[in-house]
Amino acid sequence: MKCAYITEANHVEIRQTEQPVPRPTELLVKIAYCGICSLEQKLFTGERSIYYPIIAGHEASATVVEIGNEVVSKHAIGDHVALDLVNRCHICPECLSGNSNLCENRFSKGQHVLGAFSEYMTVRSEQAHILPKELPLASAALTEPLACAIRSLKKVNLQMGETLLIIGSGTMGLLHMKLGIAMGAKVLICDIDKKRLQDAQRMGCTAALDASDCTHLIEQVKSLSGGRGVDCCIITSPAKDAATLAFQILAPAGRVNVFTSYDDKPEFPIDMNTVHRNEYQITGSEGRSEIDFAQAVRVLSNKTIEVADLISQTFPLASISEAMAAALDKKTYRVLIKVD
Ligand SMILES: [Zn+2]
Ligand SMILES: [Zn+2]
Repeated sequence: MKCAYITEANHVEIRQTEQPVPRPTELLVKIAYCGICSLEQKLFTGERSIYYPIIAGHEASATVVEIGNEVVSKHAIGDHVALDLVNRCHICPECLSGNSNLCENRFSKGQHVLGAFSEYMTVRSEQAHILPKELPLASAALTEPLACAIRSLKKVNLQMGETLLIIGSGTMGLLHMKLGIAMGAKVLICDIDKKRLQDAQRMGCTAALDASDCTHLIEQVKSLSGGRGVDCCIITSPAKDAATLAFQILAPAGRVNVFTSYDDKPEFPIDMNTVHRNEYQITGSEGRSEIDFAQAVRVLSNKTIEVADLISQTFPLASISEAMAAALDKKTYRVLIKVD
């Protein structure tokens, strides 16, 4: 079978390898689509490294082609599935408290990570969430990022009728936006990219605001939130000003979730007394648990939100270099690899 190895920074190549054989408790799946997330982009540019050579890819949809004889789940050959490509041990304190995204064993003992830029993969049956056949497999490749946004919105405990500001209007910002609208919030989104703001407005936010002039932005957010500021804010942009901005437009008892990761180590942006006096709540979110993942599957299966408009381009596996370049282009949202 063919798979794409990132062998060093800025080099990805297609290699021929043995098709994996599932263990008795595993499924063999044929990958349909896999998205290029910021993790894959950073592994490609060398900003992050796990090990080389690596088969990246963790936002995948697939079809079940073989079922190990000890699999107890209801999977059938031909099932469409969304893959939850994280190792979860189910017995560490994090797994047992509902935070399996932080499983202390997720990278231990040289376990495989990622791996979906390949024609076939073996997965444990609980990693393959069954999808309705009507859901396009391309859209299903966005299950994982959607699950991360679901986790993020749980952190701020968003309530119907509240005002939510999302800082950053990339793929992740827009997924948060679509969920926030579906949950009955008044959703504001800001970015410095005018085209992204137009897209956000078209996709239904209450206001898409230019973040290039912070003073003006703060005035606009205040006036759109009855002078109080916003109830919740999600930071999806690692820009320096984004975190500072969040605390300038937060209502008393407001909640902020730090969704973005940072390549540097930015300082906490405000003084602790401001947090104390305003009863601010500050959380972080990283990845998704299997519960978040299962909810993302339902949200897509129920057509609660549409994600096809966040797929900018699709490339065959053989063109993965071009696909990486397209994903790195700020003008695109998700770029997918069509594997089969
Ligand atoms: Zn991802
Ligand atoms: Zn665990």
